[in-house]
Amino acid sequence: MDFRLTEEQEMVRQTAREFAEKELAPGVEERDEKEIYPGKYIKKLGELGFCGMVISEKYGGSGFDTVSYVVALEEIARIDPSTEIVISVHNSLVSYPLEKFGNDYIHSEFLSKLASGEWIGAFALTEPESGSDAGAMKTRAIKDGDHWILNGSKNFITTGGNCDAYLLFAVTDPSAGSRGTSAFLITRDTPGVIRGKHEKKMGIRATDTVSLALEDARVPDANLVGKHGDGFKVALTALDSGRLGVAAQGLGIAQACLEQSIKYSKERKQFGRTISSFQAIRFKIADMAIRISAARWLLRHAAWKKDQGDQYTKEAAMAKLYCSEAATYCALEAIQIHGGYGYCKDYPVERYFRDAKITEIYEGTNEIQRIVIGRALLD
Ligand SMILES: Cc1cc2nc3c(=O)[nH]c(=O)nc-3n(C[C@H](O)[C@H](O)[C@H](O)COP(=O)(O)OP(=O)(O)OC[C@H]3O[C@@H](n4cnc5c(N)ncnc54)[C@H](O)[C@@H]3O)c2cc1C
Repeated sequence: MDFRLTEEQEMVRQTAREFAEKELAPGVEERDEKEIYPGKYIKKLGELGFCGMVISEKYGGSGFDTVSYVVALEEIARIDPSTEIVISVHNSLVSYPLEKFGNDYIHSEFLSKLASGEWIGAFALTEPESGSDAGAMKTRAIKDGDHWILNGSKNFITTGGNCDAYLLFAVTDPSAGSRGTSAFLITRDTPGVIRGKHEKKMGIRATDTVSLALEDARVPDANLVGKHGDGFKVALTALDSGRLGVAAQGLGIAQACLEQSIKYSKERKQFGRTISSFQAIRFKIADMAIRISAARWLLRHAAWKKDQGDQYTKEAAMAKLYCSEAATYCALEAIQIHGGYGYCKDYPVERYFRDAKITEIYEGTNEIQRIVIGRALLD
């Protein structure tokens, strides 16, 4: 068994690290403070091939393997978790299912624009009364000739105000249960797609999270992603891949917290010596490093399983759950190691703590991940 990254994986990692440190780091605090969407950096990431990381070269993607993908996302999240989740949603939750389930029209008309970063995608599943329970979805699509008419509302849509297209889910046959939901590719200029308020959030404040209203939005039949009734299949396929992206976000945050803690503990002196010499601080740093290492290997293993073409739902859920809990654990410990300064904005650990929490909530809360893992083991 060889745990090293291949030459290509290492090259992708280094490119992501250099970009994150040179381009993303300088303005990251300001974007957080002022809630500035990182649009210009997303464009640059597109030029580096990071908007089509998991898309085949024939559609203009980079065709990276999933291990390269999660390694790159970890590097971006280590500096800027907001930018990371925009890229993760775009790749995992939108472009990837479009390649897998989309028809020729969707492939030729939309996928290459998304893969190059010319267009950015958003994923619209959640509704005001349907979060963990996606089956309670109320947004309705009714067939009208060669179009569908959509009515309903969606909540908490990442990049929802700045994106060019939505992968959106609606009930097409209320009598068919889980086979009665379908997926649609909807462009931002579709009449009747109305963007709502921008959410004021605790963390990942540079992302733009909005609600959507659909009022008689007319969508061509050709924009149906997969077959009629395939909605949940498309959503669950997207979410397996998306959970790897959220796991990478948590891992990057945890890694950053460890690095910040090591640096600070070697500088800060109390009782005439650096706090890094105290066993209490050393144990915290050791416990952070153990969790990070375990998280990283869970994630790379899940990514590797996807690359083998194996079923990886359980592994993706485990990675998402463990990496996100490692993120909040490490962020809390990092604040403790920084003492009072960690509680203030003087050091980035305060921001990492706010950014960490969402990784336990979105793309399936950690309670839902435990249900997914339990189901895989027991049913
Ligand atoms: C910043 C942000 C960005 C987001 N981005 C997107 C996006 O781009 N696209 C999108 O579609 N959605 C997005 N979401 C929505 C997100 O995925 C949901 O918030 C999440 O799935 C939880 O749904 P909910 O908020 O309705 O909570 P609920 O489902 O109401 O859950 C509330 C609590 O009950 C628990 N719970 C629920 N059911 C069970 C159960 N069966 N067993 C045990 N516990 C349970 C949950 O774990 C949670 O602790 C985003 C949310 C946020 C905050």
